[in-house]
Amino acid sequence: MWELKGWIKQQESNMLGLIETLVNIDSGSYIKEGIDKVGNVLSGEYAKIGFETEVHEQQKLGNNLLIRHPEAVNPEILLIAHMDTVFGEGTVAGRPFSREGDYAYGPGVIDMKASHATTLYALKALMESGSEAFKNVELVLNTDEEIGSIASRELIEQVAKTKKYALILEPAQNGHLVSERKGGGKYFLKVHGKSAHAGIEPENGINVNVGLISGGTSVNTIAPFAEAAIDVRIETWEDGDTVDSAIKEICSYSEIPGTRLELTGNITRPVWNLTAEAEALIAIITEEGQKNGLELLHEKSGGGSDANLTSFAGIPSIDGLGPVGADAHQESEYLYIPSLAERTLLLANVIERLSSK
Ligand SMILES: [Zn+2]
Repeated sequence: MWELKGWIKQQESNMLGLIETLVNIDSGSYIKEGIDKVGNVLSGEYAKIGFETEVHEQQKLGNNLLIRHPEAVNPEILLIAHMDTVFGEGTVAGRPFSREGDYAYGPGVIDMKASHATTLYALKALMESGSEAFKNVELVLNTDEEIGSIASRELIEQVAKTKKYALILEPAQNGHLVSERKGGGKYFLKVHGKSAHAGIEPENGINVNVGLISGGTSVNTIAPFAEAAIDVRIETWEDGDTVDSAIKEICSYSEIPGTRLELTGNITRPVWNLTAEAEALIAIITEEGQKNGLELLHEKSGGGSDANLTSFAGIPSIDGLGPVGADAHQESEYLYIPSLAERTLLLANVIERLSSK
């Protein structure tokens, strides 16, 4: 294949420009307007290289996008990148995109606005090189990954079914690929009553985290209502059943007369375990990395992603193909800029390799 390395390196400032634009749009999972703005910027960029966007409209959440080249016939590779972040409205005003030497900062910069730049430029690089492999991909850009991909799950599964490979562009923590992830889900416990006892929180001990608690009307009023959001992580399907029935059991009655419990939610993310097919895919990706001096390792992550869904749909899936950085979901989140070119090249080479018969 034509030497892409130099061309990609030259695109670094364009990539950073796109990342700056995307970071500077508040696009928390519940900010439909912001996410749709991100979607418009991206579909505009894809239109410039001849790709077409199918908009899957949603009432409350951002619109999911399905993107492919009009000449793509039965593409085999699914690329997934989410457009939402965990940050609320107004975050950008407080700490917009910034750069210091080799590092870039801002809400969602590594999780995963930078991945959109590497994905777009990998496809551009393929076109630039005269490769036809860009016709072998279909992209899902979804809008609710940070809240469990509940609304985009159907689209992802439907598109995944027709593919041979799924490449998920979540960031590369320490530069590692991700080959397995825990499953999990979310529960919401509402307590209605005259007062709510703190002891009502479910405590079943298996990776359950009550991360968000709210309630009350004022400091000198006994709270008539309280709510807890509970995050669950599981290693096996059996753990999922255990946690699910334990939470339901604990919340099936209230020990405090006059209060009523209301529990919603469930296990939404299946566990993702490494399969032989995915191992073969890792071998290909590591080989392509080696050709350009990248020593790629792979690891199991505790955090779920859309790879859990594509793998569950039976498609060999590898994640962590995005650029390198760390501290996702935190203020200190950063992108390591030199990894932009590296990861763009890697993705282009992997797509080319998977497309050559
Ligand atoms: Zn992410």
